[in-house]
Amino acid sequence: MAREIPLFIDGEFVSSQSTQQIPVTNPATQDVLCTVPCATPDEMERAIASAKTAFKTWKEVPVSERARVMLRYQALLKEHHDELAETLAQETGKTFEDAKGDIWRGIEVVEQAANVASGMMGETMENVARSIDGYSYIQPLGVCAGITPFNFPAMIPLWMFPMAIACGNTFVLKPSEQDPLTPNRLAELFNEAGAPAGVLQVVHGAKDQVDTLLTHPDIKAISFVGSVAVGQHVYRTGTQHLKRVQAFAGAKNHMVVMPDANKQQVINSLVGASVGAAGQRCMAISVAVFVGEAQAWIPELRDALAKVKPGIWSQPDSGFGPLISPQAKARVESLIDQGKKEGAECLLDGSGHSVEGYPNGNWVGPTLFSGVTADMTIYKEEIFGPVLSCMSADTLDDAIALVNANPYGNGTSIFTASGAAARKYQHEIEVGQVGINVPIPVPLPFFSFTGWKGSFYGDQHAYGKQAIRFYTETKTITARWFDSDIPAGEANMTIKLG
Ligand code: NAD
Repeated sequence: MAREIPLFIDGEFVSSQSTQQIPVTNPATQDVLCTVPCATPDEMERAIASAKTAFKTWKEVPVSERARVMLRYQALLKEHHDELAETLAQETGKTFEDAKGDIWRGIEVVEQAANVASGMMGETMENVARSIDGYSYIQPLGVCAGITPFNFPAMIPLWMFPMAIACGNTFVLKPSEQDPLTPNRLAELFNEAGAPAGVLQVVHGAKDQVDTLLTHPDIKAISFVGSVAVGQHVYRTGTQHLKRVQAFAGAKNHMVVMPDANKQQVINSLVGASVGAAGQRCMAISVAVFVGEAQAWIPELRDALAKVKPGIWSQPDSGFGPLISPQAKARVESLIDQGKKEGAECLLDGSGHSVEGYPNGNWVGPTLFSGVTADMTIYKEEIFGPVLSCMSADTLDDAIALVNANPYGNGTSIFTASGAAARKYQHEIEVGQVGINVPIPVPLPFFSFTGWKGSFYGDQHAYGKQAIRFYTETKTITARWFDSDIPAGEANMTIKLG
């Protein structure tokens, strides 16, 4: 029987009493790697209560000591990078190098979390009124919670709990039930790095456990990453329960290709950005908009995509892995069918793909459509598979109008040799993360991850300065000190301070 993975409550791994178990499978074979329990109401309560108790002492720990936990954690994550990547690759199907990248992007956030002190400095002003000084402190909120998706089981939890905890909060993480082994290992290493018991809890489960976090009075802030439907539910329910919420949701990312761009750079970048990680990245390019004569490059793009071979994580020549589940594969294949029915030209069809030796894998090969229009389902839906749709535009203005009309606004890029075209694009485009000759413009952790429109609900984004604002409260002090020999004087009946 597959082993059941534990919850992490009050600094210990504990077996759940739950009778509800979800199998976690290797997406290349369907072998059951483990089962994940859906935490019981009592276990949820214990995790939140432990985080609440731990907050009382953790918030008093000096910021430099909190930062040192992050420094030790960063070193441990690096030391265990390959081992973590192997676990991650097995449960997600990602290639080994891609799995390492998932962890690396998280390690970079931990490095930033170690630098939290400068971001938590308040402001001061002497003599805001006669003999009165004003100053502010940045203080943690209390217990924060994170709900994460399957597609980055290391990076996205690491966007959340290191920043929140470095700010002095405690944290309850509910990882995706599809790949919970990596988050459990992240918690174990965090413990090893010296985080006190109760500072981080990991609870497992699905909708019921998420809803407990969204409605529990002791949770102050919710960070969510996942699909649009769930993101909207999390944002509405969390804010209705008077919590601070940041919800990162789905995406449809366009690359605009100008005819003056370097053709080979365009093709290489489009191949990696569209089918890398089987297209299961929120910043994947799923639409290429060819402006004018650049459309002539589509046949060469097709040939380049046809050379990419899906395969298992441990094979160095695997271009990308299987989709996360048979349901995800069936959904992507049905969207490919729909694209054909609605009149898009399928230049490369990855449906029904097989990989020798792995007949049960959730394989979909690279897929390319041309002649896609904005009314087609394959344009309107987030496909989340290795499928690239090609569209055309006569001018840069037309391309900008197309991208701006899309309800999502996570990422976009333009490939061009013209500074003027690039400047116009970066200024006019209504998308939060823009690449100029860079296909997947994920900001480094000293910036923030700034999706817009239907890709994000909230105001403060993940990591960087915005994460510190999200996970903290500002307290402003107005202070006057009297010399002991000054008489008390009369009652002050006005609101004037001086
Ligand atoms: P998902 O929405 O199915 O699941 C995300 C989390 O929500 C999981 O922990 C899951 O257990 C929980 N959940 C699922 N259904 C729920 C419900 N009805 N009520 C409450 N909680 C529920 O997302 P996924 O399939 O794991 O991840 C893929 C999605 O995430 C894609 O849409 C992708 O674009 C998005 N994503 C966005 C970003 C971003 O930064 N914008 C980053 C990564 C992934």
